[in-house]
Amino acid sequence: MSKLQVEEVTKTTARANSNLACFGGTPTVTEPLPPWPCPNEDEVETVRRQLLGTGPYGRSMCVAGGGGTGEALEQRFKKEIKVPFAVATAAGGPALHIACMSVLEMGEEAITTPYSWGQTVSCIVQAGGVPIFADIDPETLTLDPALVESKVTPYTKAIVLAHICGIPADMDGIMDVARRHGLYVIEDCAQAQGSRYRGRPVGTFGDFGCFSMGSGKHIAAGEAGMLVMKEREMYERALLAGMHPARTGKEIEDPKRKKWIDSMIYTYRINAISAGLALKQMDRLEELNGWRRTNGAVLRERLRDMPGIRPQKMPQHLDPAWHLLPWSFVPDEVPGVTLHQYLAALKAEGVPVSQYVKTPIHLRPMFQHKTSHYGRGYPWKAHPQGDKIVYRQGDCPVAERHCAAYDIIIGSNRFYRPINAWLDQVEQAFRKVTERLDEVRELEV
Ligand SMILES: *Cc1c(COP(=O)(O)O)cnc(C)c1O
Repeated sequence: MSKLQVEEVTKTTARANSNLACFGGTPTVTEPLPPWPCPNEDEVETVRRQLLGTGPYGRSMCVAGGGGTGEALEQRFKKEIKVPFAVATAAGGPALHIACMSVLEMGEEAITTPYSWGQTVSCIVQAGGVPIFADIDPETLTLDPALVESKVTPYTKAIVLAHICGIPADMDGIMDVARRHGLYVIEDCAQAQGSRYRGRPVGTFGDFGCFSMGSGKHIAAGEAGMLVMKEREMYERALLAGMHPARTGKEIEDPKRKKWIDSMIYTYRINAISAGLALKQMDRLEELNGWRRTNGAVLRERLRDMPGIRPQKMPQHLDPAWHLLPWSFVPDEVPGVTLHQYLAALKAEGVPVSQYVKTPIHLRPMFQHKTSHYGRGYPWKAHPQGDKIVYRQGDCPVAERHCAAYDIIIGSNRFYRPINAWLDQVEQAFRKVTERLDEVRELEV
């Protein structure tokens, strides 16, 4: 046999004898994670009473005029994170859209992040604004304030940031840049309900905090969101964009603004069932988030010395209520194994690893073609120098490198109660894979 043939036989034998699940072996992780959503009897009863009109917040299933369960949820939110104004919305996306509509005019720029769920950025476009991307910090994966500042132009109006994975962005740095350049700040807190920056809840730093209580998030209320703000001016602008005239008619105080009270709105209010569900779940948020923090810390510690994977460093002043646990792939520790082979081998073992952001947002078709769902050239045509704005590979090298070569996440929303047996098995799965790198190298992905 030739040397090549010998190598081929050796490989085939290795695969046949392998007990890696990717080659037909038994998967390591058999313990299930707890189900999500996990409504308790109280929550189910709340929905029932909501439907029957026998609940504590009035008979109406319709909360269009404000009041009722929607208002009760807003009050709860305001008390919980100590903000003066809140508007309950149909989802997190509408909260972001309303925030952008409240501060951006057609063609104005908002500086944002390439590493997030797309809606952190599409809300700018929906409001007619032009997204400009700044790069992220390689450890926290959130906007780097110095790089945000380098993108400020005479057209810049706002910063739209995301506390991605639950990790608070550098709010001291961001607020400093915003103050010096007179910019509005919109915080996307969809993945960060309960996260704290220097002990203070996210969503309370900028002009707007936007939360999601969609069923994959920290609170599972079907589809729901919350917009919070510090100033009445912003509150009234937000109400006009998305709330029913039965509510704006009661709440708008500014005489200049009263003439805009109308039914020409987005139907962005919350529904009463979701509001009831969210309100009840608020009682458990701290407890569930406590477990997300604890289990997240345990997993980060257990995998700390595992070859090929490194937890993102978290400085002391950041306290994430983990939604996703982010890691970086370390190719030097697993020579010859690609990120995709590493992920595929672990997934086959039953570890819920994946890449989060496969393509940074500025490199996606909307920005490469400068065409949104509203048509070619929208919103760039509304910018005085829109033709000159281009989105290129190399604009955000840290995010680009992270997405291409390092990005690993483990979803941690379902870490809301003790999961010790699952954590043990995940650690075993990592050991099994990293002790068999010769075999993983043969994996075709
Ligand atoms: C989920 C999510 C949204 C959108 O929230 P919905 O309630 O689904 O509209 C926005 N931004 C981020 C970062 C998210 O994770």
